[in-house]
Amino acid sequence: MVLRAGAAWGMTYIIDPPVRASLAVKDSSERFALRRVFCVGRNYGAHAREMGHDPDREPPFFFCKPADAMFDVGEELPYPPLTKNLHHEVELVVFIGEGGENISVDDANACIFGYGIGLDMTRRDLQSEAKKLGRPWDWGKAFDLSAPCGPVHLVAKSGLIEKGNIWLDVNGERRQAGNIADLIWSIREVISIISQSMALKPGDAIMTGTPAGVGPVSRGDEITAGLEGLGTINTTVS
Ligand code: MN
Repeated sequence: MVLRAGAAWGMTYIIDPPVRASLAVKDSSERFALRRVFCVGRNYGAHAREMGHDPDREPPFFFCKPADAMFDVGEELPYPPLTKNLHHEVELVVFIGEGGENISVDDANACIFGYGIGLDMTRRDLQSEAKKLGRPWDWGKAFDLSAPCGPVHLVAKSGLIEKGNIWLDVNGERRQAGNIADLIWSIREVISIISQSMALKPGDAIMTGTPAGVGPVSRGDEITAGLEGLGTINTTVS
């Protein structure tokens, strides 16, 4: 049996440790190492309403994707198995550079390392079935390659993002449009709320929710998504 050197002194692994998931960093050769991907459910009023919920009465809730579901968006986005209803959800992604527990809303901005444009791809048919049966959302949300993402923009360069248009086109037609200022739970509040429940750590990513207009994509569809100040991302479902 071959034992391989591990990260800590004297530690060996019986298999090769998995490659650390990471994302490109804008204007840098260094990469942002990913730890966990938190996702906020229903964080824009119009999207909550289109999914049949009252946005004013519901506290935020979360689900997670594995870190390696998040990857550098490229020319092709493979259509996943099991679904006949793959949906696009464009989201502002917040990357955590400094973690902590019980972070106050006032201190939360100091935790932000940067921002990106991400797609919370969703097997809507599987998610709807899970909702109906009271089952977990993982099969609808946390599948392989379910979170293509543009590069990490350092907050030191972009400044804090508290407003700005966010949008998504399919084949040149506007499908989703919103503004970061319309988040029901602000980025600062989301960071604070997650940290009441578990410790945030460097490398964590938070997908902050999607504006109204989610819908299906098919093989061959070209997705372009943008966020004011962060440019655009582009991919084709293959
Ligand atoms: Mn989402």
